[in-house]
Amino acid sequence: MKIAVNPQVQVGGSLFTPVQLAKIGSVVESAAKIEMTPFKQLYVEVPSDQIESIKEELERSGLEVHPAGFVTKSLIACNFCKGAEEAGLETARTLQQAIAGIETPTPLKIGYAGCALGTSEPLLKDISVVKMRNSFDVYVGGEPKGITPSLAKLLIAGLPEARLIPVITTLIDFYKEKAKGKEKFSKFVNRITLEELVRIVG
Ligand code: SF4
Repeated sequence: MKIAVNPQVQVGGSLFTPVQLAKIGSVVESAAKIEMTPFKQLYVEVPSDQIESIKEELERSGLEVHPAGFVTKSLIACNFCKGAEEAGLETARTLQQAIAGIETPTPLKIGYAGCALGTSEPLLKDISVVKMRNSFDVYVGGEPKGITPSLAKLLIAGLPEARLIPVITTLIDFYKEKAKGKEKFSKFVNRITLEELVRIVG
C-alpha cells in the first residue's frame, strides 16, 4: 500500500531533515518504491499489515502521514519568506490539520500563499488561500492540467481568520456531497457557479 508522507508546514518550505529521510529508508522494505509527487508529498510503499506501526514511527520523527489516492492532499504552502507571523504560518498549520487526508471524489489540492506574490502558485490549485495583510482571500477552481488550463477564481475576499477553516471545510463537504461521480473540482465549480458557492459558504 502507498502512504503519503510530508514534513510539517514550516518556514523554508518542504524541508526534510537527514534523520527523517533516513527514517523513511529504514522503515520500508529494500525494494519499496518511494515516489516524489508533484504536490510535495512522498508516496511510500509499505506492507499493508505494518501501516500503523510505520505511521507511528514516522510521526515520532516529526513527519506527517496521510492516505494516498482520492483524498485532499496536504496543504501546498509557500516558503513563508516574509516570516512566520506576517505570512501566517500558524494559520496554515491549523488549516493543514483541518484539511489533509479527507476522502474526496477526486484528489483535491489546496494551496496557501503568505502574501499576494503567491509564489506557491495558489491560482493553479483546486482551492487556495492567499493571506492579504490581516485577512484572507479564497480562490476556487484552478486547473493546471491538460491543454486548456484555467486559473482559480476569487470566491471570497477579506475573510477574517476565524472564518477561514469553516469556509474551506464547507467547500470540501459540499463537493463531497454534490459532485457527480468523479467530477473534477474545477468542473464542479463551473457547474455549481461561484454565486451559489458564495451562498453555501456564506
Ligand atoms: S507567497 Fe509571499 S510570503 Fe510566501 S514565500 Fe512567496 S513571497 Fe514569501
